[in-house]
Formats: sequence, structure tokens, C-alpha cells
Amino acid sequence: MSFKKPEKAESIADAIPHKSVKRYACIANNCPMPGAIFSGSGGGMCAYHYGTNSEDWGRITRTLQDWQCVTDEINACREAFNNPSTATRPAVLEAMFDSAWRRLQPLVGSWSEDVKPQLTKGGKPDSYGSWILRLERFIGARVVDCIRHQVGRKAA
Ligand SMILES: [Zn+2]
Repeated sequence: MSFKKPEKAESIADAIPHKSVKRYACIANNCPMPGAIFSGSGGGMCAYHYGTNSEDWGRITRTLQDWQCVTDEINACREAFNNPSTATRPAVLEAMFDSAWRRLQPLVGSWSEDVKPQLTKGGKPDSYGSWILRLERFIGARVVDCIRHQVGRKAA
């Protein structure tokens, strides 16, 4: 690791020695998401497993795995915004956003209208960050559906 002189660095991020950030997996078995929410003694959980009944964890994980093309893009975006070498470069983030949608579009079939970059509530075109929030809401809705479906079955 070397420390570049600021006048030679392309950005402030270049001038700062980088340390990679350790990624903690969600404690639910085989969950593809990071365990970003501390859940007590067991470790971290993702937002989709946090606060749910452990009997639903397998269904939630399967839903996340079924939508791996979307969770991969969410995780790639989070990584880009947490890595100083990309987070401080708007042009790099914009290029990553373009690539992400080009990768995802052929994989989402009829869900394309739901997950495509759109205008935000403020009327601006999605940025990489706002688009990923859209993908997170999409996945959240699929997870809620898988839990509701199970609850409905129990009630019948
Ligand atoms: Zn999880």
C-alpha cells in the first residue's frame, strides 16, 4: 500500500491508502445478502431476514436466491458505494450503472417494467443509487409475498 502525493492523485480517494472492508454474511443459511443489521449474539442479518420468524428464513432465502440476478446487482452497487476507488468517481459509478442494467435487463423477463431505471418521485431519472433502492423495494415486495403466501396457507 502506498500513499500518493495529493497533486499526483486523481482524486482524494487515490491519496488515501485503501483498506478493504470485511463483508459479513447474513446469518440465515445461504442468504446471499450481507448481514448489515446487528441481530444480537448471533451476528448480522440482512434487511430481508431481520425481524422475521426463523421458520420463514428458508422461504426468504429461496426468494432471494430465485432473484439472484437482482441481489447480485444490489450487492455490486453497495460495494461500489463503499469502495473509495469507485464511490468518489461519478463517471465510474455512471458506467457501472449502465453495465448493471444491461446485465439485468435480459434476465428479468416480464418484470422488466418493474425493475427498469425510471423517474424518481422527484421527477429525475434514476441514478445508480436510486435505482438500487428501487431494486431493494422490488426484492422486499417478493419477500413479503412469500411470507404472506405462507400465512394465507396456514389460515386456510
Ligand atoms: Zn438474509
